[in-house]
Amino acid sequence: MFGEVLIVPIGEVEPDLMVGLAGELRAALGCLVTVGEMVAIPKGGYDPHRRQYRGEFMLAVLRAISAPAGRVLGLVDVDCYAPGLNFIFGQATLEGREAFVALPRLRSSFYGLPDDPSLFRQRVLKEAVHELGHTWGLGHCSDPRCVMYFSNTLHDTDIKGATFCHRCQQAIPSWMSISAPNCSV
Ligand SMILES: [Zn+2]
Ligand SMILES: [Zn+2]
Repeated sequence: MFGEVLIVPIGEVEPDLMVGLAGELRAALGCLVTVGEMVAIPKGGYDPHRRQYRGEFMLAVLRAISAPAGRVLGLVDVDCYAPGLNFIFGQATLEGREAFVALPRLRSSFYGLPDDPSLFRQRVLKEAVHELGHTWGLGHCSDPRCVMYFSNTLHDTDIKGATFCHRCQQAIPSWMSISAPNCSV
């Protein structure tokens, strides 16, 4: 029952991106992934001085969504931060139920470069798997190729893969058996 993932847009998110991500997560994790209804961006989380949203508010919005079957993965197209960090690509509640990925800094155009849709989707997938990994209790990994490696920069995200290294895979609780054809346990 913990193996399902509900993708929730927080504010406007390209539908194609969510449908594509659902398919890619399904293939990567081998469990049921569905796309839910949009929820509003929590205005209270906006810091006008930083012109960024505080990630904790995104997690609170997701926490309120009923998803008895598993994890809630938010996607939000505004720049986010957490205390002590200039920005975040995403955030999760460790061993919790909710996680999100912030999209703006995953686009090459954020850095003045031409956008690459397929690279963008790869980055979203990696950050989504990474944040879901935190909800399954995984911490950061020292292997730069592992999806649980901490991305300090977008370059780190581009270097790492979308999959767990052997050690991280072993650490995923057995109820979230990612090699199983489905995770309805
Ligand atoms: Zn992390
Ligand atoms: Zn690892």
